[in-house]
Amino acid sequence: AAEEAIKAGIYPYFHELESKQDIEVIMEGKRRIMLGSNNYLGLTVHPEVMEAAIKAIEKYGTGCSGSRFLNGTLDLHNELEVELADFLGMEAVTTFSTGFQSNLGIISAIAGRHEYILCDRENHASIYDGCRLSYAETIRYRHNDMDDLESKLKKLPLEAGKLIITDGVFSMSGDIAKLPEIVELAEKYNAATMVDDAHGLGVIGEGGRGTASHFGLTDKVDIIMGTFSKSLASLGGFMAAKKYIVDYVRHNSRPFIFSASITPAGCAAALAALRIIKREPERVARLTHLSKYLREKLMENGIAVRESGYSTPIIPFYTYEHTRTLVAAKMLFEEGVYVNPVLPPATAPTECLLRTSLMATHTEEILDEAVEIIARVTKQLP
Ligand code: PMP
Repeated sequence: AAEEAIKAGIYPYFHELESKQDIEVIMEGKRRIMLGSNNYLGLTVHPEVMEAAIKAIEKYGTGCSGSRFLNGTLDLHNELEVELADFLGMEAVTTFSTGFQSNLGIISAIAGRHEYILCDRENHASIYDGCRLSYAETIRYRHNDMDDLESKLKKLPLEAGKLIITDGVFSMSGDIAKLPEIVELAEKYNAATMVDDAHGLGVIGEGGRGTASHFGLTDKVDIIMGTFSKSLASLGGFMAAKKYIVDYVRHNSRPFIFSASITPAGCAAALAALRIIKREPERVARLTHLSKYLREKLMENGIAVRESGYSTPIIPFYTYEHTRTLVAAKMLFEEGVYVNPVLPPATAPTECLLRTSLMATHTEEILDEAVEIIARVTKQLP
């Protein structure tokens, strides 16, 4: 399929970037408006974040050359964990080398034999792989469907270990998890809860504190997982929970123990980004404003935006068929707009999408320019 797409000139992957990850980028020699990055707060190019990374290299060198467990813990890792726990209002945090690895490491460590994981169908691939790595039985429920979740919970023994896992903000659709209902069901059926807030942190909740904060339910969620590769402008991931759960994972999680820690530059960048988010919550408000702005502009121009109850910065629109989606992505790229295609198995074969995502640093002018191009291109599609 990849070879065919290359031959047809509609292969959408591995475009080469020759500039910073910003609202406009140079990709394959030309300016493109970036509407496909997870750099939600635009902090990858913030001078303070860049400076912190450079200083960390000067002080610690380029790598940690070992696991957090052994020689790879810097004072910077500990500082990041303490400040992040404080920001989230959770007891403790531990960091992993990537967000993907966090899900592998958390789920495989805490869900064991004769236990059950209840997993939203649209959860991220790393959650699925974490489930496969654990010895617990995984049961999927229909996306954000609380009746289906309850019917599955009902069939399980009340005393058995159960963990409900959901994305906070779903990565492809921008939907927000129905956390109030999930927490209620968890209490009723004796289950624990875990939220993957990769796309919620820095995006929703008080000052960007994420999905649990958005619903005022921080004290009801057992585990919050997140990543530094999106709003926090770096690379790495984390788990936030009660201290005894974090301590358990730190001593039992193979992806945590047997893998090298976040690099000094990566760690310092995430810490600097976190401090900016704390100091300047207006960035999060600006992102929400722009999310509503872009959604409305796309709808005004007759573009088939996917419905979502709340304006998150993930705004996908339907292109329906597989090839039509690739053609649309290619045409947009040629006209100077970068967006990401969402294709099966991430979506149903007739519900393919192009996923736009925003940064707080986008301007209304650049979004207007992008919408004009998207409207023009989608009208030309067969
Ligand atoms: N969880 C979700 C919901 C994600 O969208 C992603 C990344 N796209 C990850 C986990 C993995 O994070 P990372 O890219 O930082 O490894």
